[in-house]
Amino acid sequence: MKNDELISRVASVLHRRLDEHGRLHGDVGAVVLGSDGNTYTGVCVDTPSWGLCAERSALAAMISKGTYRFEKVVAVWRDEETDKLHVLPPCGVCRQFMRDIDELNLGAIVLGLEQIAKLRDLLPYHEWPRPLE
Ligand SMILES: [Zn+2]
Repeated sequence: MKNDELISRVASVLHRRLDEHGRLHGDVGAVVLGSDGNTYTGVCVDTPSWGLCAERSALAAMISKGTYRFEKVVAVWRDEETDKLHVLPPCGVCRQFMRDIDELNLGAIVLGLEQIAKLRDLLPYHEWPRPLE
C-alpha cells in the first residue's frame, strides 16, 4: 500500500473531541500496515488516569487480530485552523513498544515529518547488552 493511501486511510478516523476536563481525544490517528496485509487504525486517548498514543492504539487493534509484525506505520494530526494534515513521528514509548512486540519490526518503515526511516534507525542502541566481564 502506498504512503499517500495510508495517510488518507488514517485521516478518515480523526475525530477531535475536547472533553469536559479539557483533554483531547481522537485528534491524532495512526494506521499500521500489518504483515498480514491488513491495515489497523487507532486514535489517541487522553484521560486523567492514562493516555494512549494513536500508534499504540492501532497496534493494539492489530495484536487483537493475532498479528504482531507490521510493515509500515504512520500517524497524522489535522491542524483545525488550517485544515492541513501533519505527519507525526512516533514518541519514544511507541518506538520501543513497536520493537518489543516483535523484534523483526525493527525493519518496518516509519513515516515521519519529512523523512521515511526504518524503526531500527529511530532506536539507536536497541540491542540487548552483553554481560559485563
Ligand atoms: Zn507514542
